[in-house]
Amino acid sequence: SGRWAKAAAIVRELEDKCGTPIGKLRQVADAMAVEMHAGLASEGGSKLKMIISYSSLYLNTLCVCVWLCYDAEHPYFFLACLCRDEKGWFYALDLGGTNFRVLRVQLGGKENRVGKQEFEEVSIPPHLMVGTSDALFDFIAEALKKFVATEDEDFHMPPGRERELGFTFSFPIKQSSIASGTLMKWTKGFYIEDAVGQDVVGELTKALERVGLDMRVTALVNDTIGTLAGGRYHDPDVIAAVILGTGTNAAYVERAHAIPKWHGLLPKSGEMAINMEWGNFRSSHLPLTEYDQAMDAESLNPGEQIFEKIISGMYLGEIVRRVLCRMAEEASFFGDTVPPKLKIPFMLKTPVMSAMHHDTSSDLRVVGSKLRDVFEISNTSLKTRKAIVEVCNIVAVRGARLSAAGILGILKKLGRDTLKEGENQSVIALDGGLFEHYTLFRNSMESTLKELLGEASETIVIQHSNDGSGIGAALLAASHSQYL
Ligand code: ADP
Ligand code: MG
Repeated sequence: SGRWAKAAAIVRELEDKCGTPIGKLRQVADAMAVEMHAGLASEGGSKLKMIISYSSLYLNTLCVCVWLCYDAEHPYFFLACLCRDEKGWFYALDLGGTNFRVLRVQLGGKENRVGKQEFEEVSIPPHLMVGTSDALFDFIAEALKKFVATEDEDFHMPPGRERELGFTFSFPIKQSSIASGTLMKWTKGFYIEDAVGQDVVGELTKALERVGLDMRVTALVNDTIGTLAGGRYHDPDVIAAVILGTGTNAAYVERAHAIPKWHGLLPKSGEMAINMEWGNFRSSHLPLTEYDQAMDAESLNPGEQIFEKIISGMYLGEIVRRVLCRMAEEASFFGDTVPPKLKIPFMLKTPVMSAMHHDTSSDLRVVGSKLRDVFEISNTSLKTRKAIVEVCNIVAVRGARLSAAGILGILKKLGRDTLKEGENQSVIALDGGLFEHYTLFRNSMESTLKELLGEASETIVIQHSNDGSGIGAALLAASHSQYL
């Protein structure tokens, strides 16, 4: 019928506009490498901030610490050395996109060196993401206080000793020391104007005082740098880290002499960690659709984080919702009226999109039940469900292939995209909920990278690097403790 033809035309158009043929991906990779050069040449020289990590020492310190949780056989050997006869809890706070995690790691003394780890995940009420700095940090401090109250009875802090905290912060910060850094801008659905330009450690410290929690922030770390450093100590061939979660970002190891904007001392290793903030990448080669443009225009940060908005977990489901909404409006895809819930922004979360995309049942019953549960759309036909899976596939595959192109851009910048005699392998540490849980996305990203690299793919390894950001921060806090 006419309705079906119209719906099919919308899907075909989407497929066409989201197309990522290999030639286009190469253009994106080249553009990424060009922007990397520009961002390293001068401050503000590119959409990519290319933030130089606090210092090479910082990276080394982090490496030593984060190693502790990566060595599966003797996880606390070094920790015991660090702690000598001391006993104590170290805390970490991981502020990602939608949730924040609080965790504590128990560092035992000599005879009790295997530490316990406990953690809790708290979701941030949406109104606090767009409120004031005080309100957000008060909420975090309160949650931390509640968590502290659940400490084991038999493991008190020694009298006169303050609790210490490592803070993982997944937004762009300009770091000025190991335990301070100013917020450059918000991303991923956060927009708290009065926090921009403030030292986030200072903001957190003031909130801790307000709620009456005696705790000291001893380390601030960006999640992507944490993943890079953790991965690298575990395996010296790790040259880059990529986060695919609520948002997306990448960090990599650059030769210091290739960073013209760096005027400080050259580190002994000759290398520095660079936080690319690649979510803000954009290029005329990116395949953008009307859905992306509308979503961007209505977002809290229009014109910014364009790469992030077509790749990461916060946005994929929303893009699919916008397509389905148009199909409902223009092709009566779900009947004569547009289901009201389908019109609500961000109603379709990426995990739900992923569940529909992975539905292997012959009647696509997962798709049917998600439509009912999320949008109150019932009695969908198999044909309707198939079209929805197709939309999910188009949107996910575009994101996955573009992430692969981004990684190729880094490899090109480092001259590691071609096979060279005697060259070590290059390992990329990957982390984040999207990469971890969205199997079809991950498979597509990995196979696209292989396709792009050809024979050079033999020397490139993608490695899942599990939660370097949380534990790493606790250990970093320990390594910068005033007591140890
Ligand atoms: P953050 O980025 O906030 O630090 P994570 O790395 O845990 O947190 O990533 C969370 C994001 O991962 C979610 O916002 C969601 O988009 C995505 N995600 C989580 N689970 C799934 C899933 N099953 N399928 C697809 N995406 C998922
Ligand atoms: Mg995270």
